[in-house]
Amino acid sequence: MAVVGGGTKKILYTLKTAAQIGLLDSARALGAKNTCKACGLGMGGQRGGMTNELDEFPSVCNKSIQAQSTDIQRPIPEAIFQHSLEDFRDLTAHELEHLGRLGQPIYKAAGDDRYRTVGWDWALDRAAHGFAKCAPERSFFYSSGRSSNEAGFVLQLLARLYGTNNVSNCSYYCHQATSEALANTIGTGTSTIELEDISGCDLFFLVGANPASNHPRLLHKLIELRRRGGKVVVINPLKEPGLVRFAAPKMASSLIKGGDEVASLYLQPFAGADIALFSAIAKVLVERNAVDETFISAHTRDFGLLQQHLAGLQTSELLAECGVSHAQLHEVVTAYTDSKATIFAWGMGMTHHCHGVNNIEWLCNLALLRGMVGRRNAGLLPLRGHSNVQGIGTIGVKPVLPEQVFSRIEERLGVTLPREEGKHTMASLEQAHAGDVDAALMMGGNLYEATPDSDWAAQALDNIDFKLYMTTTLNRSHVTGVAAGESLVLPVCARDEEPEPTTQESMFNYVRLSDGGINRIASVRSEVAILADIGARLLPDAAIDFSEFKQHRKVRQAIAAVVPGMEALADIDVARQEFYVGNRLLHTPRFQMADGRARFVAHKGQATPASAHLFTLLSIRSEGQFNSIIYEEEDSYRGISDRWSVLMNVADLLELGVAEGDLVDVQSDNGIMKGLRAKCFDLPPRCIAAYYPEANCLTTRALDPRSHTPQFKSVPVSVSAAR
Ligand code: SF4
Repeated sequence: MAVVGGGTKKILYTLKTAAQIGLLDSARALGAKNTCKACGLGMGGQRGGMTNELDEFPSVCNKSIQAQSTDIQRPIPEAIFQHSLEDFRDLTAHELEHLGRLGQPIYKAAGDDRYRTVGWDWALDRAAHGFAKCAPERSFFYSSGRSSNEAGFVLQLLARLYGTNNVSNCSYYCHQATSEALANTIGTGTSTIELEDISGCDLFFLVGANPASNHPRLLHKLIELRRRGGKVVVINPLKEPGLVRFAAPKMASSLIKGGDEVASLYLQPFAGADIALFSAIAKVLVERNAVDETFISAHTRDFGLLQQHLAGLQTSELLAECGVSHAQLHEVVTAYTDSKATIFAWGMGMTHHCHGVNNIEWLCNLALLRGMVGRRNAGLLPLRGHSNVQGIGTIGVKPVLPEQVFSRIEERLGVTLPREEGKHTMASLEQAHAGDVDAALMMGGNLYEATPDSDWAAQALDNIDFKLYMTTTLNRSHVTGVAAGESLVLPVCARDEEPEPTTQESMFNYVRLSDGGINRIASVRSEVAILADIGARLLPDAAIDFSEFKQHRKVRQAIAAVVPGMEALADIDVARQEFYVGNRLLHTPRFQMADGRARFVAHKGQATPASAHLFTLLSIRSEGQFNSIIYEEEDSYRGISDRWSVLMNVADLLELGVAEGDLVDVQSDNGIMKGLRAKCFDLPPRCIAAYYPEANCLTTRALDPRSHTPQFKSVPVSVSAAR
């Protein structure tokens, strides 16, 4: 029987999870005026929990309730910390997360083999001491996309006044390629559309993403699009069941009929061969004279370069390179030329390559060719991961601040910032691996597991003398790569527990206000308060008084004063007026480039480097996980119950003499995964998939030179029957 995404199973799963955490607690948490804690699509805030910016209600999904499930846990009993690090490392990622909430600061001295609980005053003194004894250039500061704008702003200011621009965030492992590509082609780095535009488009390209599992509420919009006669083109090497057919829990009619078809056309190029496909589409568009000449001449430049480049390419060679047929190519071009309003959306299937920026620049080419940027109901939509990953970048958690933000911080806050270029995430870990980092602060996230080449990552972290973590629950980063140095872990409030309101920015550039205010564990503290306390201790003579920043409103006023487009943040807690970041949505073709014109690019596809390995590995996430957090082992849409599995094409299994369910070994230049269970799956030959973060023992540290994003989705590997 064909697997259908969503459906009553998901409703029952959601209810089951809600029952486990208590129906009253769940209802209170989900109904409160807080931004959803999971994906970047955005939900909740002042319009009410489970409500989106179009006032559509209820918009609950299993991802949002999964995110609640770990927060609504009791504190970890103190006796647990009698166990050694080795005992903790024996637990699965799921078991670690489900030990409970971290309720007290815990500390491990250099060389000790276990944590002990410590008091808050001692912990804050120790945190300040850990940085005070080190030279700022031998430190780094990192944030996940879960933290608030307020916490992110104080973190980056603390780092910079301390003396380093080594400030980065998790987007250097996900969408940094997007920011680089969009800045280079259209002059801004985020979505050009708002949620409402999806309701008006007639064609939606969904490239390198699996929103059925990672942005579930988007599927409702795609089904609506199909029902009004529009088309969805999915481009993804894996035939994801949830993108073939999905039963939207919000739509009774969809549930009753066993789901709606999502993809009108499903293209499965070889892993990493997208530019060949995009070039073929562009070439046929030009040959058919199906480009928007008026738009191109009025609003773009370098079209001639692109034409010249395309003229030198052979369509049949491009198709052989990407594995797509002539018939499919013509079908997709026809769908595009028939469309009056097209949206291009993409995920990490585009960014996790050494040519991630080039990939996205080519998507921009396609949109510009038919004038599909800079108008209503059409445009570019990066599907962002965590609920505030975009906001964290907006307010300055990055190694290089925009010049205007940099100078405004200096002028308006009366401070002097360091001028040396900061290091991105992987560069900071390279520095640590070389033994040149003495202190690091990691707010949220799971940096060890998120980093490619796991053994190397553990060693890099272990080389840091003093590590300060801030978290709600324990994960592998707190127990791996911590043996040698000092490690201090501080327990923080979840978003809905913040004592004062916080703000978050969605992937549509929509800024929400979260009320917070739920008191579950009295002993945890706000990230903002912790950072302000450390700042006051570490930099008592700084030009700004960090203790003032304990008031979130003061932080928002500072952000509003220095970050263009965020002016409405200053009184958002009084006005309760959520807003779009200024100058982001592009409903007219006014591009923020020096000449006001968007730019075509003409890169060649990336030739695959010669390798003794015959297969290409894509690392993927499951239905039961969010980023590196594993909520459940099962990957229901793909029909896999064991994460220690590898997805393979049937012809490859036959050639290896392996049957579905047999065990295989997968080896890269970096490591080996032994005894993976083979799962027959619809994906191109010589392309295999295994779960992230486990597969990070195979991924290499090869980076996209333009965005510094690791190539999590094009790793050369060999596969053999298990020995
Ligand atoms: S789609 Fe994303 S933002 Fe919306 S409820 Fe689900 S997890 Fe939350």
